[in-house]
Amino acid sequence: MATEQAATTVQKTGQRAKKVRAPHAPRTPRARYATTFERGTRSFVMSQIRSKDTSPERLVRSFLFAHGLRFRKNDKRYPGHPDVVLPKYRTMVFVNGCFWHLYEGCSKARIPKSNVEFWTAKLLRNRARDAAQHAELAAAGWKVLVVWECELAKDRRDDTLNRLLGDIKK
Ligand SMILES: [Zn+2]
Repeated sequence: MATEQAATTVQKTGQRAKKVRAPHAPRTPRARYATTFERGTRSFVMSQIRSKDTSPERLVRSFLFAHGLRFRKNDKRYPGHPDVVLPKYRTMVFVNGCFWHLYEGCSKARIPKSNVEFWTAKLLRNRARDAAQHAELAAAGWKVLVVWECELAKDRRDDTLNRLLGDIKK
């Protein structure tokens, strides 16, 4: 009985501790600096690693779903594992991060200042691979559409998604 009670207490304490840790860091310049990583550092790389259903992809999927489209996601049968596959329209949508896929002209697609050679080679390789994969899919009769991360910023999102819907149905 005593042990049980102790366990409960520990659990409660644990829950309370978790809640205490949850609030966001204060928005002071110092705190912001602490969570901003320089591109090219390990911390920056780690901060960029995302889970499967991160918000840009989710935004696109939920928009398409709300407009009645049905699709498969992250289809591993195809090169590049397209984020959205719409068999009915023979269309694939890739939702690309500007940095990793080196979106030309985008401010997020800058080569990091440290390890320049490594990053230049890596990001150019990513872009070449994208191009090769898209060409392969197009040759197999797929319409390949790309949505860029920065096109989903709040002020551009509606236009981007509506244009995407139009392009899918075109
Ligand atoms: Zn961009």
